Amino acid sequence: MIVLKGIIKQYADVKALREVDLTVADGSIYGIIGRSGAGKSTLLRIMSLLESPNQGEVFYNGERVDTLRGRDLLLRRRKMGMIFQNFNLLSSRNVAGNVAYPLEIAGFHKKHIHERVDELLELVGISDKRKARLRELSGGQKQRVAIARALAVNPEVLFCDEATSSLDPQTTRAILGLIKDLHDKLKITVVLVTHQMGVIREVCEEVAVLDEGYIAERGTVKSVFDAPKTAAARELVYA
Ligand code: ADP
Repeated sequence: MIVLKGIIKQYADVKALREVDLTVADGSIYGIIGRSGAGKSTLLRIMSLLESPNQGEVFYNGERVDTLRGRDLLLRRRKMGMIFQNFNLLSSRNVAGNVAYPLEIAGFHKKHIHERVDELLELVGISDKRKARLRELSGGQKQRVAIARALAVNPEVLFCDEATSSLDPQTTRAILGLIKDLHDKLKITVVLVTHQMGVIREVCEEVAVLDEGYIAERGTVKSVFDAPKTAAARELVYA
């Protein structure tokens, strides 16, 4: 479903990605792992069309998308949801206001937004926090709000950029369980970037190991974890 071909991304004299090829199958939970600075976030930003590559092509279901601009880009990006380590929520809005935000931008009617927000908050298990201010929430609850917001306009793909990296182990497990449930229930494709091996092991089916802008190794989680072939993968697996 998502195909990247020969992606190169350079910032000044830093080569963040060097000829990356990647295919993420429809409906999979795909993990991208690598140590800090390996190029994971850059790869995710290019996949989610937040940035353009210097070279290479990005395809969604066979359609070239890295060249989209203006309204076409906006509409394509609406089919993607994204969650981050620091949640990126709007502190001026309460829980419901945050989840409603993308629905307002997409131009839905008030009544539909109200119903949809209720539905989403129930889906992520925080219906009781509808009117809460963000400062009253735990990290795990904030990430649930961010997930509800990301899913508001029924995306086809959910991108997770170190989404559990600031959470304690118990909350991490709960959030990963939620992501897995949502994947099963909504048949959404999940692409997850992390430096935490445990996260990949817990939820992913396939994994790519990124090292200094290259994909060092890729395969099923079982194959890469049971028998890592490259130094980069071994360093992560045996850490
Ligand atoms: P990771 O997510 O694996 O930690 P990143 O994709 O954030 O790695 O970064 C890869 C490399 O690209 C790093 O050397 C980083 O400093 C550099 N880089 C990333 N984004 C930018 C940017 N906007 N400007 C300059 N350099 C950047």
